[in-house]
Amino acid sequence: MSTPQDSPRIGHGYDVHRLELPADGGLPLVIGGVRFEHVHGPVAHSDGDVLLHAVTDALLGALGEPDIGQLFSDTDPKHQGQDSAEFVGEAMRRVRAAGYRVGNLDATVVLERPKLGPRKEEIRARLAELLGTDAVNVKGKTHEGLDAVGRGKAIEAHAVVLIVADTRN
Ligand code: MG
Repeated sequence: MSTPQDSPRIGHGYDVHRLELPADGGLPLVIGGVRFEHVHGPVAHSDGDVLLHAVTDALLGALGEPDIGQLFSDTDPKHQGQDSAEFVGEAMRRVRAAGYRVGNLDATVVLERPKLGPRKEEIRARLAELLGTDAVNVKGKTHEGLDAVGRGKAIEAHAVVLIVADTRN
């Protein structure tokens, strides 16, 4: 466990989920806590929110703690269909318990469809709420038709977070 004296600390998170039709196990598509109407959705044990998974791992990584897969087993029935905001919530509980707060978050979602642009502010606002800071940035990119992500068969997210000593009280 790190101590606030070590601050600031940086964390990186990455996640990927396969996208399938509902008949092949695809769940409703949720990105950063925002639901999208889309023909394909993530295959996952939880709700499959690729962005919240990357953010959770970035927070845990900054603390030097075990990753999301170690903390929340993907075979535990308890986590089946779980709202991934609860994973972020647990990571934030650990951030605060260690004497830190989030300085800022920068994240990128890589997907071919649907377009993130029109809903980006909604996603950003939800992340800001979950992380307790307005210093949140979200970017959307396509994979230029390359590989599984480019064919619309997968979705990826990258997140980098800075945590700083919480000296506010
Ligand atoms: Mg995941």
